[in-house]
Amino acid sequence: MSRDTLVSFEGVVKSFGTFVAVKKLDFEIRKGEFLAIMGSSGCGKTTTLRMLAGLEAPSEGVIKLSGKPINDLPTWSRDTPMVWQSLALFPFLNVRENVEFALKMRGVGKAERRRRAEQWLDRMQITEFAERNISQLSGGQRQRVALARSLVVEPEILLLDEPLSALDAALKVRMQSVLKNLQRETGITFVYVTHSQSEAFSMADRVVIMSRGVIEQIGTPQEIYRTPRTRFVADFLGSSNLFSGKVRAGGQGKVLDTPAGQFALSGDAAGLGEAATLTVLDTKTHLSVEKPANAVNVVPVRVIGEEFVGATATLYLETAQGQEIRVQKGHDEIADLPTDIGQGLYAWWNPQDGHLVAEA
Ligand code: ATP
Repeated sequence: MSRDTLVSFEGVVKSFGTFVAVKKLDFEIRKGEFLAIMGSSGCGKTTTLRMLAGLEAPSEGVIKLSGKPINDLPTWSRDTPMVWQSLALFPFLNVRENVEFALKMRGVGKAERRRRAEQWLDRMQITEFAERNISQLSGGQRQRVALARSLVVEPEILLLDEPLSALDAALKVRMQSVLKNLQRETGITFVYVTHSQSEAFSMADRVVIMSRGVIEQIGTPQEIYRTPRTRFVADFLGSSNLFSGKVRAGGQGKVLDTPAGQFALSGDAAGLGEAATLTVLDTKTHLSVEKPANAVNVVPVRVIGEEFVGATATLYLETAQGQEIRVQKGHDEIADLPTDIGQGLYAWWNPQDGHLVAEA
């Protein structure tokens, strides 16, 4: 355990009857970080968070908080408050009373309770609603009350389970920056469960990607985006073109032999004869009308569609084998390209922009 470890999961398994929801988790949460746990529906994100909150007991393994096992600690005696989508605010208490509630339960005196609640009402910009009923608030206002209510006790760690999923798109983006700033300013460790890549990647210092109860990769958003560790991660992020094949000896080093062609590899990532997948970011895949003379990794394609979102254009193309290739560029980068449906082009990339991942 390193000095900055706050929580460690050591060989943690969670079964419900014969179904194993979390297969074996070994990872650490660092003090003061914003960690996002991401993955598709049913991969075990919420179960992992609930075990940390003490709402589920691990079937095997140990969860430690500041080096001490907490498997047997009841929820109420852990310093791990949780904010989730349904919020669970008390409808019979007003905003101020909701925020003061946890302090009252901890025996904090009335004046001190009031003072600390005021601070958080102010910080979350909900002072003007202090005497209102929860039912008289908008979704975004409720979200702020829920955050104030959890943070007023100054916990070491805050658990958030899809807290923004019920909000509309514009409010979601605003709340993302509220959350990120709050985490930075308070230094409280945030563990944030989401299935949204944009939420995870815009807020988190590190992201855990789960699939079917196991961790596929853990790293900074940039590491995961640039160097996905497995085919699952590359597929899940959906920002790369993938070519599967076998590694063979080529004239100038190793190549990957795929149905779309033989592609030069950079580095020595896999042994001869091994099955592997080459991932190339759609932003690093280029297009030309003429076959580029100096490029070694070239695939003839034809245009099947295009999409413009904000400043970015995405071109959808197809290889002769029917594999879809995506290329993402700024508008001006593709302004001179003929992009009518059916137009033949060449997709290409530099070998150093290709990244080989294990097939599994
Ligand atoms: P989502 O994004 O849909 O919330 P998730 O990744 O958070 O998914 P979990 O809620 O952790 O997934 O559930 C993981 C798996 O465990 C799912 O297949 C779910 O059906 C199962 N599961 C969760 N809780 C229970 C339970 N109490 N009893 C039986 N199975 C459960």
